Amino acid sequence: MKSHIQTDYFVIGSGAVGMAFVDTLLDELPNADIVIIDRFAKAGGHWNSAYPFVTLHQPSAFYGVNSKELSQGRRDEIGLNKGLGDLATGPEILAYFDTVMRQRFLPSGRVRFFPLSDYKGEGVFEHRLTGQTTQVKAKKTVDCTHLNTTVPSTHTPNFDVAADVTFMPLNGLPHLSEAPKGFTIIGGGKTGIDAILWLLENHVPPQSIRWVKSRDAWLINRKHTQPFPEFFETTIGNQANMFEAIAGATSKSDMFDRLEACGYFLRLDTTVRPTMFHGATISEAELAELRRVKDVVRKGRVAKIDAETITFLNGRTEPSLGHVMVDCSATAITNDTIKPVFKDDVITPQTTRAYQPVFSAAMIAWVEANIEGEANKNSLTGVVPLPDDLDRFVRMTAANFMNQALWGQNKALRLWMREQRLDGFSKLVSQVDPDDTAKIDILNRMRAAAMPAMGKLQSFLS
Ligand SMILES: Cc1cc2nc3c(=O)[nH]c(=O)nc-3n(C[C@H](O)[C@H](O)[C@H](O)COP(=O)(O)OP(=O)(O)OC[C@H]3O[C@@H](n4cnc5c(N)ncnc54)[C@H](O)[C@@H]3O)c2cc1C
Repeated sequence: MKSHIQTDYFVIGSGAVGMAFVDTLLDELPNADIVIIDRFAKAGGHWNSAYPFVTLHQPSAFYGVNSKELSQGRRDEIGLNKGLGDLATGPEILAYFDTVMRQRFLPSGRVRFFPLSDYKGEGVFEHRLTGQTTQVKAKKTVDCTHLNTTVPSTHTPNFDVAADVTFMPLNGLPHLSEAPKGFTIIGGGKTGIDAILWLLENHVPPQSIRWVKSRDAWLINRKHTQPFPEFFETTIGNQANMFEAIAGATSKSDMFDRLEACGYFLRLDTTVRPTMFHGATISEAELAELRRVKDVVRKGRVAKIDAETITFLNGRTEPSLGHVMVDCSATAITNDTIKPVFKDDVITPQTTRAYQPVFSAAMIAWVEANIEGEANKNSLTGVVPLPDDLDRFVRMTAANFMNQALWGQNKALRLWMREQRLDGFSKLVSQVDPDDTAKIDILNRMRAAAMPAMGKLQSFLS
């Protein structure tokens, strides 16, 4: 028999985006009633299926939900992230979201959480263990499944693998019981990077690792993403460098050269021109480690793998070498279709700041609570396209600039952002002492280059 419940906000998905949205809504709309469902048993979304050695790639200091710190307030003292803000591990992130649910959301008396529940459409969800269905009547539905994050353990590769090949997502690596002949890592993104760093850290010689990548990526230097006062010059200074590089560029290609020359971008191999950008962040020490792996195969996309051969879509081949084949080919966020964030009684959180889905979700909740009218809400929450190829970088950066400029004109939003830990950087800028000439100089450089950079991006777009 179907049961019925009523609520103000029906949130589908308790991943980081759903959690960040609800956290802000609780503060901004003190009377709102909220129902959250998820097919997982615990909040935290894809982190429930992550590989055991996963960590954030950005500092914990600006990930999670606004109301609760995730960082331990430390700079790492050892390892490849030494000197930089701590990076939460997968288990830490899951424990964090569970705590937010149990110690903040549920005790508020305004949130009801239905785990192990599949959304079926039309306001109906079904419990995975009992089959019980529930009809939700809500003023608004918040679809936090839109980004469709995929991870290696749950995705299906888009190439064929013969049954006699040892093939596994990187989740399987810690469970190997016998040393294989070698490891072939399939995928050039962040997961591939994580797999290689983990193997090297665990004493696998670089000669036993082969890296198959269809595209090379521009990477962000993690040193430049640190939202801490002692990193002002590197972090905000890097923004100024970026603005100036774009403003001075004579072509799209020249822009990427300048972005690399000023330190904004890193790449694995300075002789190979990257053709993608996924927003992956890396430390200089991690990059040095990756460069120890010399066997990098760039033959395009894999079509099939059998015991003898890896065959690529373009017909080229590579011997399988009896290696364990490690699948790192899942793209984290797969849905790059763009919808209006606010449409009738549906809210679809998407990125309003480049590669910051959780800040964006919290900001969208603030807009929902504080701005009247669908058109006004949508004008503040223009969707920033997800990163992918180099043209997309231009569109993404232009949309990002545009949002920053618009938000700067809304005083209430500006003041709110300054106090939010997920924002990371507004506070850093707002706290600059007017007598600190070095920092003021950086801010002036940014201001001077902002409009020319925007104009340049527009010209590249047209
Ligand atoms: C390895 C890895 C590292 C990352 N590191 C960072 C980082 O450092 N910084 C950063 O900003 N981003 C990072 N990301 C990007 C990441 O995708 C986002 O940070 C964020 O976790 C995405 O959250 P989400 O809620 O959109 O997606 P998800 O975590 O996928 O949550 C969506 C939820 O919706 C539920 N759901 C979907 N369909 C249904 C349905 N029909 N019924 C019920 N429930 C449903 C799912 O079960 C899931 O719990 C990383 C991603 C990966 C894979």
